Amino acid sequence: MPQKQLSFSLQDRRILTLLRRAKKPLSAYTLLDQLRPEGVRSPPTVYRALDRLLACGVVHRLESLNAFMACAYHADDGAKGHLSAFAICATCGRAWEIHDPTLARTIKKIGKKFFTQPDQEVIEISGLCASCEKKQKNCEDTP
Ligand SMILES: [Zn+2]
Ligand SMILES: [Zn+2]
Repeated sequence: MPQKQLSFSLQDRRILTLLRRAKKPLSAYTLLDQLRPEGVRSPPTVYRALDRLLACGVVHRLESLNAFMACAYHADDGAKGHLSAFAICATCGRAWEIHDPTLARTIKKIGKKFFTQPDQEVIEISGLCASCEKKQKNCEDTP
């Protein structure tokens, strides 16, 4: 079966591109700042675009950072509602999406135990990433 292409507006695509290029999750306000030179002035414009992208599963919201990042595993195929699990470095703010079907199934099962319709599954692991750890070590080494 051919993949269904999602219809995003130009604005939606622009935001998706910015998120894909970003090295770490971006807040709606950072996105707004980056879009200002292109004539985007109001937060609701950005939020509406983010809502559409979130609904399709091509963008994820990181609850603990209140920021957004592009899905690392699904481009335009609209993998709606796939589990979003993340590892977030508390020092540099970089985040990695965790793609683990077993974890997704387990979380679904647990959710169903408590709710007939679990509506939000958020898994965020925070810690110190390897490159931040290296930097910290280097600092300790220098007298
Ligand atoms: Zn994803
Ligand atoms: Zn880090």
